[in-house]
This record gives sequence, structure tokens and C-alpha cells, in this order.
Amino acid sequence: MNKYIPTIGIEVHIQVKTETKIFCRCSTNFGDNPNSHICPICTGMPGVMPSINDKVVDLAIKAALALNCNINEISSFARKNYFYPDLPKGYQITQFKYPIAENGYIKLKSGKKIRIGRLHIEEDTGKFIHDKEHESLLDLNRAGVPLIEIVTEPDVSNADEAIEYLKKLRLIIRYCDVSDANMEKGQMRAEPNISIRKDERDDLGVKTEIKNLNSFKAVFKGINSEIKRQSEIIDNNGTIVSTTMLFNEKEQKVAPMRKKETAGDYRYFPEPDLPNLKVLKNRIENIRNEIPELPNNKMKRFKRIFGLREEDIEILISTRELSDFYEHSMEGIKDTQKATNFFIKEFLSLLNKYEINAEEVNFTPEYMKELMQLIENGQINLNAAAKVLDVMQKTGNNPNKIVKELGLEQTGNEEDIKEIVVSVISENREEAERYRNGEEKLFGFLVGQVMKKSKGKADPVIVNKMIKEIL
Ligand SMILES: [Zn+2]
Repeated sequence: MNKYIPTIGIEVHIQVKTETKIFCRCSTNFGDNPNSHICPICTGMPGVMPSINDKVVDLAIKAALALNCNINEISSFARKNYFYPDLPKGYQITQFKYPIAENGYIKLKSGKKIRIGRLHIEEDTGKFIHDKEHESLLDLNRAGVPLIEIVTEPDVSNADEAIEYLKKLRLIIRYCDVSDANMEKGQMRAEPNISIRKDERDDLGVKTEIKNLNSFKAVFKGINSEIKRQSEIIDNNGTIVSTTMLFNEKEQKVAPMRKKETAGDYRYFPEPDLPNLKVLKNRIENIRNEIPELPNNKMKRFKRIFGLREEDIEILISTRELSDFYEHSMEGIKDTQKATNFFIKEFLSLLNKYEINAEEVNFTPEYMKELMQLIENGQINLNAAAKVLDVMQKTGNNPNKIVKELGLEQTGNEEDIKEIVVSVISENREEAERYRNGEEKLFGFLVGQVMKKSKGKADPVIVNKMIKEIL
């Protein structure tokens, strides 16, 4: 397969987070009854006038700024003409010659920049539902839902880079609260275009495009299966035809759908019902000020302040809320790696267990910090701390209070621990004997018994030391 060099560009459609559609006041709510959110404008009745939803423009600008794009102070809308029943107007309103933003980029971990050629605003189409009785039903709830389309230059070299780019893009979009970018709900769809060539010096090959991929897995498999398909064609002296490909979920590979349209096929022309879109400089600056610290920067800063492993930071910055919660919990903590290990293990399992996000927990980062300080000062051990964390979620009480109520203070008193160790050994003579004769794995059993007897309060370090000493 590495006989050929792939060249990949990616178009991504993202539904921006608005209450209402782009050119009318219908709701954008997902999952409601078919055709419950439609009106003469989004169903394309004659004689209606669209007007732009300002929130869509704000969110497009926000995304564009976060992606390092230049904002065009004047852009305009165009009609993209094609006939398909999910598009009752017979055309889609989009931006063609004059997009709202251009020339951005996303930087990959390797330092490579994936250039973003343009970012534009457009409307979504309706949805065809093909039911069992061979009837096709039409749901226009999605028609007129606002989208931004983000188009890269052909800078992506393989499926791994494509996934990294898409994950970074989704993270930035979520940090800025431009969209939830939930791929299962169709809020983010990727369309990679792919060509291959034998040599860097050759011209780019004929490209094909894979339509509407709605998971990272589909993007990865789709790109690799298309590179393989094209390679086989060239190996057999065939010619690549410019085609639109569909990814087959069942077979996990792509198949040609139709000959790819060119811009000429769509007969784009300026949308006569909408004026040019003008954005003033101060509007752009106000939006720029709303952009939070972005993941790349946060990554660098966490590395600098907390000195953590990169894998750990990636987990911590996976949502803005989680990273904020973490950062506040760490104020004043000295052994940052130990506290972070606890945070990643226990706080994240707590979120999992209760199926909540960081912003939905029942306690503040302040309490989380107090809990981590109790660990740091040796007042409770890690097992007890995990228990306290769970009670914090259940009651919302502060950790000091919970520790007192449950009597979880760790005892580091060697005399007390020694007493427990001695009694555990006398109660488990056989196991103690076998350990002494070399059955190392029984050590863990004995530690467990001591911890149990101390109700989890014994300092495990001292317990370990003591058992070794006595046996
Ligand atoms: Zn409508």
C-alpha cells in the first residue's frame, strides 16, 4: 500500500448550536416528530423571504477565529442548484465565492499544520426515510438547520492524521461552545477526498470523495479502503474516475455512488433574497474576547505548571469543564502527579458511575481540593479517599466532615498497626507460613486482611513494612 502517496483533504459540516433555524424561526430540536418544525420558509414555498439568524453568524465567526482564520468583513450567499426531494426549494443556500472566513489552520501534535482553506455558512437539507414497505418518507425538520462547512487544503497524508485533525477540530468547536459536535446525532459529518500518486514530483491524482461519514471509525476505515481501492485500480493499469463514494457500514468499505459533480453542475448564482453579509470590526473583536483558552494552549500550560505526562493531560483537557474543575482542584497541591493519578482514576470513575459530566457533580472543586489535601497530608489513604469521594457525590458534604463521620482517619501509629498485624498473622497461620516459604502472592492477601481489620484506616506503607518485618 505504501507504493503510492495518498493526498487527502477533508470537508466537515458542523451544526452550530442555535435554538432556531438559519433563515426562519423554526426550532432546531433533534428527535421530535417528523415535520413538526417546518414553515413556508424552510419548506421552500413560493414568495417567502429568508432572513439570516444573527446567532449563526456569531458562532461561525467564533469557530473561524478559534481556527486561526481571517474573517471577511463582507461575504455573501449563493444558491447551489440541484434537484433532490429532500431539498424542496430545488436549491441550497450556501456561501460560494465569498465565504465568511478563509486561511486558517489546525496544528497536529507533530507540529504539522493542516491548512483550512475556507469556512462558510450554509443550510442543511431535509432527510429521506426509507421504510419497510418501500415507501420513501420525507422529514423536513432538518431543512434549514444552520451549518458551517470547514474545508482543508489537501494537507492530510493518511487516515491517522485525518483522525487527529478531526478530533482536534471537534475539541476546539466544543471548547468554544459553537456546537456539541455529536457525530451520532449528525451534528458533525466528515467528507474526505482522496487521491494517490506514485511520486512526490507527480501531479496530484484524480480525487474521489467519501460522503457523510459520521464516526471517526468510519472516517478511518473509509479512507484506508479507498486508498486500497485506488491502488488496485492503478496496479491493474486502470484509471481513477472522479466519483462520490459511500461508506458501507456493514462491509466497512467504500463503494462508488455516482459520478462526482463539479461546481459547474450546480449553476451557483448569487442569492437574490439575501443582502451581502457585513460584519463590523468591533463585532469580530467582541467575539474574539469570548473565546476561552483553547486546548493546545491549555496542554502547554498544564505541562508547565503541573509537570504531567502528556497522556494524562490529554485526558484532563478532553472537555473544557473537566479541565477547569481539575485546575481548581489542584490549587496548592504539592505532589501534583500523585494527586492527578487519584483525580484521573477516581474522579473519572465517579463521572462514569453516575453518568454525569464534570459540571454536574454534587460538589465544588474546592471540596475536591480539600479531599486531595487530606491525602497529601497523610490523613486518609487512597482507598478511604475514594469512599469519601462517593459520599461527597451522594450528600454534597465536605470531605473533612465525611472523614470524621465515617471515622476514616488514617492511622500511622506503628503500635496500633503492629497489634493488628500480629492478630491477623495468628488468625491466618497457614497463609503466613506459606508466605514465609516463598508464596509471594500471599503477601497481598495478608495486607488485605490487615486493611480490612483496620477498617481501611491503616497506612498501607506502614502495613507493608510491618508484615515484612514480622514475617
Ligand atoms: Zn421554518
